[in-house]
Amino acid sequence: MKVELITYPNKILKAKSEEIKKIDDSIIKLLDNMKEIMYKYKGIGLAAPQVGINIRVTIIDLQKNDPGFGLVEMINPEILENAGEFEEHEEGCLSVPDFYSPVPRGKYIKIKYIDRKGEERTIETDTFFSVVAQHEVDHLNGILFIDRISPLRKELFRSHRRKMHLKTG
Ligand SMILES: [Zn+2]
Repeated sequence: MKVELITYPNKILKAKSEEIKKIDDSIIKLLDNMKEIMYKYKGIGLAAPQVGINIRVTIIDLQKNDPGFGLVEMINPEILENAGEFEEHEEGCLSVPDFYSPVPRGKYIKIKYIDRKGEERTIETDTFFSVVAQHEVDHLNGILFIDRISPLRKELFRSHRRKMHLKTG
């Protein structure tokens, strides 16, 4: 199956994703397809719902933003601990094109997940990876970054959407 990037307000983005019981070829293929799409659109993270599939898979590659990490592929990721406050930063999303806003996020996280080989892994970090991982796990729970921004920022988002509609007719 060929997968493509989907964007807001597609309902798939609002649904809670299912846990994966077995890592078969379709999951491996999905991981590879997601990687292709993420690099094509120059994203630093991508979750399966963003390609129209509501299962708990996400990938992150911070590239130059956080050199401590390469490509991380996470199946059934679960944030076990989340503490502190990350300093203000602009967040964006491939599924919410051309809009950026600060989002309140924890600083330190401990996240556990299963890799493509079925091995359980844990990452503890308080770097930028932490923010991106929180954004991606949100996707698996049907939450977008625009759901976490202030009412004023939401109003900016709505006017941004109106302008986009005018532009595209
Ligand atoms: Zn996103």
